[in-house]
Amino acid sequence: MSLKKSIALASFLSYSAFAIEPTIVLDPGHGGKVDSGTTVAKIHEDEINYDIAVRVHEILSKNKFKSHITVIDLSSTTPQQRLKNDSDESLNYATGPLPMDKRYIDKRCELINSFGEQSILVSIHNNYLSKSYRGACIYHPRHPESIRLATSIAKAMKKNGLKLYTFRGKSLPSILANPNYVVLQTTLEAKVLVECTNLANSADRKIILNSKMRQKYAQAIAEGVQEYRTQRINAY
Ligand SMILES: [Zn+2]
Repeated sequence: MSLKKSIALASFLSYSAFAIEPTIVLDPGHGGKVDSGTTVAKIHEDEINYDIAVRVHEILSKNKFKSHITVIDLSSTTPQQRLKNDSDESLNYATGPLPMDKRYIDKRCELINSFGEQSILVSIHNNYLSKSYRGACIYHPRHPESIRLATSIAKAMKKNGLKLYTFRGKSLPSILANPNYVVLQTTLEAKVLVECTNLANSADRKIILNSKMRQKYAQAIAEGVQEYRTQRINAY
């Protein structure tokens, strides 16, 4: 290839890198017939995760950020319906909803990977630990972009007055490396798994059952991702 041609190709490739707008992939944990996550005091983790993801998606869309939820629950469109336990959640493929069978986790990862390496993954969960733990913790793989994303979300949670990780009232590190989670092994460069509360703790449970508080968690997650995204644009 001539020098002229390779320069033209290089500038096209760098232009493409700027031109492709990354998607913020919101991944509400669990769902469908095979996996409702933790169930405690009639609270189903998958429904709470889904409700928060829908709220984050609404905030991001309003602020003109491109986002996609990996799960779709066609029968639970209003906030009141979203917390009722059902099992018709499907994977939200562009080609149409795909039922979650026993091998749904592979399909979930395939869907996440389809958005490309430049996209950003936020998997949304609620923990079930010993009841002495409270608050949010954010897991990331050992990679600087993911650590930056986790830090940005933790900061936004603090700013919004949300409780970060504690054990018997004592602060613990709320940003933790855990590359073992399957969704954190996807090919996206920046990816985190957010555990908003500990459902085994009655005070945390009360918080997450309050729709205003779920909105606050969604607001903090959206702010954290937006802040991270803006920093990344400025870094280029
Ligand atoms: Zn979970």
